[in-house]
Amino acid sequence: VKAEGRNHYHFYTEALNERLSERLKLQNEMRRALKNNEFFLEYQPQYCLKNGRICGIEALVRWRHQERGILYPGKFIPLAEENGLILPLGEWVLRSACTQNKLWQDLGYPPVSIAVNLSPRQFRQKDLIGKITRILDDTGLEPHWLELEITESLSMEDVELSSEILRKMKSMGIRLSIDDFGTGFSSLSYLSRFSLDTLKIDRSFISSLSEYADKQAIVLTIIQLAKNLGLKVIAEGVESPDQLDFLSKKDCDVVQGFLLAKPIPVGDIRPYFAFELKD
Ligand code: C2E
Ligand code: CA
Ligand code: CA
Ligand code: CA
Repeated sequence: VKAEGRNHYHFYTEALNERLSERLKLQNEMRRALKNNEFFLEYQPQYCLKNGRICGIEALVRWRHQERGILYPGKFIPLAEENGLILPLGEWVLRSACTQNKLWQDLGYPPVSIAVNLSPRQFRQKDLIGKITRILDDTGLEPHWLELEITESLSMEDVELSSEILRKMKSMGIRLSIDDFGTGFSSLSYLSRFSLDTLKIDRSFISSLSEYADKQAIVLTIIQLAKNLGLKVIAEGVESPDQLDFLSKKDCDVVQGFLLAKPIPVGDIRPYFAFELKD
């Protein structure tokens, strides 16, 4: 029994070491990937329930890895967040997304706002405002066509600093959205302190919406909360007609999810600009 116990321990450290070296490897590869342009964006459309038309697009980063194929952000964003590579990567994402949105507008596509995820570490970096200003200047995208998605966790860190930065962004004309709303454990007081435009209801509340009365109650309450605060409300992760129907009846403003469109490579997106929701 004792020997067996030692063996387990041995396996355990081996597995741990493997995980560590795997992480180190990925970290080095990430540096190379940034230089080699291995990252790319996919775009997921958002549709306005009032008129059925496209009104926004979320940019989502992917990594075309030389050996492993396409990697999704769950695999590398947390690591990039830890080792700081999220700063150059995030800047690349922001610049690419703004460039792309300006290009769509120049091509005469219906104008949409481009939503870009901003990680907490990016948010805390020095001169974030300067960087964003430069990107908007360089690309020529008007600030109100950019929507930054931040998470509730920001409100728990340095509230003074966060609200100062958000106020500056807002005064530039940038739109601000709280992502994954309802999943953080922060107090709601930040909703009045921060200058926000949009609440984005987390996917976990939308999934199996039709089966669970309590999920319906939460979604209804978030929609009401948003309305009462004068904020726009988006539901993400809409996968079924039932969910869409519920959200539409309850006056949700915007929907996003696999039912309408998956994240799409840039070359395939054109038809989605013309697509309209029917009632
Ligand atoms: P998120 O911001 O909550 O993005 C939505 C995620 O849900 C995306 O996963 C999207 O593909 C997926 N999704 C959209 N509609 C549906 C649906 O109907 N059903 C289901 N099951 N999933 C749906 P993805 O692209 O793997 O991204 C995961 C997370 O990685 C994002 O969650 C975001 O937090 C982060 N992320 C993605 N791109 C970036 C980026 O450029 N910068 C930063 N900092 N984070 C990013
Ligand atoms: Ca998001
Ligand atoms: Ca989200
Ligand atoms: Ca999420």
